[in-house]
Amino acid sequence: MRKTIYLIIGIVIFVLILGATYETTFISSSDDKKNNNVEEHIDEIVYKGKFPIPVENFIKVTSGFGYRDPVYNSKGEQISGGRSHLGLDMVGTLNSRVMCVKDGEVTHAGWQNSYGNCVEIKHIDENGKVFYTFYAHMQNNSLKVVKGQQVVLGQVIGIQGTTGNSTGDHLHFEIRLENKEQINPAPYLFDEV
Ligand SMILES: [Zn+2]
Repeated sequence: MRKTIYLIIGIVIFVLILGATYETTFISSSDDKKNNNVEEHIDEIVYKGKFPIPVENFIKVTSGFGYRDPVYNSKGEQISGGRSHLGLDMVGTLNSRVMCVKDGEVTHAGWQNSYGNCVEIKHIDENGKVFYTFYAHMQNNSLKVVKGQQVVLGQVIGIQGTTGNSTGDHLHFEIRLENKEQINPAPYLFDEV
């Protein structure tokens, strides 16, 4: 009788250990898979200045930083412009991926009114000063990062799109100082500017 009880206890312990081992293996492998699916990096990083070009298969800049001339319709009503454009509009081929230009921490990832699906990343420059890069109008359900996540240069954050207040597929890219004031990104992306 006692032998039978010991045998049953032995079998129960064996099954528990087997179960725990299986669960650990299963959970860790599924987590690895999830991370591999989420984290994506651009292989060919293109430099034309201090920071790499944030959109894959870059074609051209379609709108610069600063004041935009007002555009009027035939009735003389202003339909756009007449205000400052606080970023640089850049176009890559359709469905091009958007990447982070410097290592940092994601401070926003989601929808923001006229910016559509956008991401803001906090960086520290070579003098220890905080600044931010900002990427807007990306496609719905394309964001690959979440707030609080650490990201590295070349890491994919989303796919170029036209969400928010936008008339065509492009990336709206901003550089913001510590006080969130936008500065012209062109001198950081293009040496010739
Ligand atoms: Zn723009």
